[in-house]
Amino acid sequence: MVRPIVNNEDPYAEFRQQMVDTINQEVIETASFIGKTALDERVMQTIGMVPRHEFVPGAMKPLAYNDCALSIGQDQTISQPYIVALMTDLLAPTADHRVLEVGTGSGYQAAVLACLVKEVFSIERIPELATMASETLQRLGYHNVKVRTGNGYEGWPERAPFDSIVVTAGGQIPEKLIEQLKPGGRMVIPIADHYSSQYLTVLEKDLQGQIQKRKILAVRFVPLVNDD
Ligand code: SAH
Repeated sequence: MVRPIVNNEDPYAEFRQQMVDTINQEVIETASFIGKTALDERVMQTIGMVPRHEFVPGAMKPLAYNDCALSIGQDQTISQPYIVALMTDLLAPTADHRVLEVGTGSGYQAAVLACLVKEVFSIERIPELATMASETLQRLGYHNVKVRTGNGYEGWPERAPFDSIVVTAGGQIPEKLIEQLKPGGRMVIPIADHYSSQYLTVLEKDLQGQIQKRKILAVRFVPLVNDD
């Protein structure tokens, strides 16, 4: 776990707190889908500390604490903060966890996880984004995140198995990710159906290796691309 460097002079602190309030409100409004009226307190504290403005391009900084997805270049987006908070909560992170993320993008989701777990391994298929995210994470002190360029469909076999896996692009469940998930672990992934709707889904692997899936919420992520 790392602690984000908190700057008391941070001009964004107030906007970040407003974003936290908005997320809490949205959780209440979607309680019937997500089955709770509040997310894990530690997750919300982390969202209240990680400087999202550091993960978006200059022109987007004034919008960094709006509760919406934003363009990060290369036709990709940083996810909506409510969705990042929800996915993090659904992963049930604990301090000893080693987590795999597919779809590093800006590195923001990885930074949030880095504050809650032991180690984060994050894969991004676009080299420019992987490099930029890695530099941002290093600069801000998130030293327990490792980023690499590659195809997330392959997972990260050298570092497997993982306590949990988060996929932040929408598609089918890559078989190798199921293999690389520990028994008792969970995966959070937006699964696309034949009509290109996506459902945020929690997949649980029990101690016998049996898989159970639970649909949570309709979402819209950029596609999970299989480069082969
Ligand atoms: N988690 C990110 C949001 C990422 S958007 C954040 O916090 O900013 C989804 C990302 O997944 C994009 O950057 C896209 O390039 C990447 N992606 C899509 N398919 C992928 C694949 N097969 N392997 C790795 N990354 C992939």
